[in-house]
Amino acid sequence: PQLTSVDLASAAASPSAVSADALLQRYSAALTGVFGTPQAVLVRGSGARVWDAEGKEYLDLLGGIAVNALGHAHPLISSVISSQQATLGHISNLFTSPTQIALAEKLLALAEAPAGSSVFFANSGSEANEAALKAVLRHRKESGKPRILALEGSFHGRTTGALSLTHKPAYREPFGELLPGVEFLPFNDLPALESAFEQGGVAGLFLEPIQGEAGVLPLDDAYLGRARELTRAHGALLVLDEVQTGVGRTGEWFRYQAVGGGVVPDLMTLAKGLGSGFPIGALICFGRQASTLLGAGQHGTTFGGNPPATAAALATLHAIESGGILENVRTVGAQLASALRAHPQVRQVRQFGLHIGADLDIPGIEAPAKELVTIARQRHGLIINATGEATLRLAPPLNLTAEEAAEAVERLTAALAELTGLTPEAAG
Ligand code: PMP
Repeated sequence: PQLTSVDLASAAASPSAVSADALLQRYSAALTGVFGTPQAVLVRGSGARVWDAEGKEYLDLLGGIAVNALGHAHPLISSVISSQQATLGHISNLFTSPTQIALAEKLLALAEAPAGSSVFFANSGSEANEAALKAVLRHRKESGKPRILALEGSFHGRTTGALSLTHKPAYREPFGELLPGVEFLPFNDLPALESAFEQGGVAGLFLEPIQGEAGVLPLDDAYLGRARELTRAHGALLVLDEVQTGVGRTGEWFRYQAVGGGVVPDLMTLAKGLGSGFPIGALICFGRQASTLLGAGQHGTTFGGNPPATAAALATLHAIESGGILENVRTVGAQLASALRAHPQVRQVRQFGLHIGADLDIPGIEAPAKELVTIARQRHGLIINATGEATLRLAPPLNLTAEEAAEAVERLTAALAELTGLTPEAAG
């Protein structure tokens, strides 16, 4: 007989029926609580939908926060992972496997990386950024340039090095002093960027082409272009964190490819959607020089790049490429954005493929996005997310259909109507 994960969980539970409340109580007792109280106990997913322990269905327009690139329980990903696991599961990094090599080659081809480029596989976005940071630290040591630049509003992860590059004071301050030498520049501010480089001594610059956690805020093309010129002219490394924007999220394979003037980074980090939910991150080193920064013995990981993870990522890239998914991302993203813009309560929409932020303005409601997220989930079966008090974020599966998008918009309209006390028609 086949054991499901739910069977396994209830085998560990008391023999009586397990209610969602009881599970949440056990969660609070057994887990650290760093994530607060979970919104629900989820037991099953399929495509853009998930079901909770009480059987309630939700349309998931967050996709594991930009991770479930092909939706939940995608048949190809599931079968590739299980057959790879049944053939050859984990091996150490004393060895390699065909899927690891093929994935590295595929990523380099999609990124149009020059000869001599190379890939390091990690297990998450933070870990990919730790690897990038170590490459920059190595350059810092060798060049004697002490400064590392990042931007206000940045999010690069919560491990110590990545946190040193993450701006939000609430995430940093409880931990006191982090990595010395990191400076934060104001977002999208060209004169500030120019003067930071004029002062000299910059070893590296970390940028998210679009700041996701800050509310889907894009850097201007001109800013990215100038960042490339300045880093090159001053012998500094340009690191693009495409953990959230990479692998098709914005309707291009990687966001930097949409930037005018051909901004190519020295280092780029990926994770999130790369394995369609199977944990994998990657650092791409562009060209021979960047590739030498993490040479033999300079870095390591036990799990990174193992066969099931690299098979899941290869299958993800294959499905995106062969299924016309980038085109889908652009059209369904535009559909969602125009439906959002039709609502009088939506002040501004920033849409890049299926990477969407929407600012709400509802007189008399202080944190409209946060309240809307709760109403949408509890009463309308819609999973969305708030970044800050007033900004909604949508990051659905890249294969979300036009019909699913329309259904999500109906649920969102009903939730907005409820929040503002209007009928759905009056809400837009
Ligand atoms: N960089 C960016 C741009 C991210 O959005 C995130 C996750 N929100 C991370 C890094 C960290 O990734 P992970 O949670 O996989 O460590």
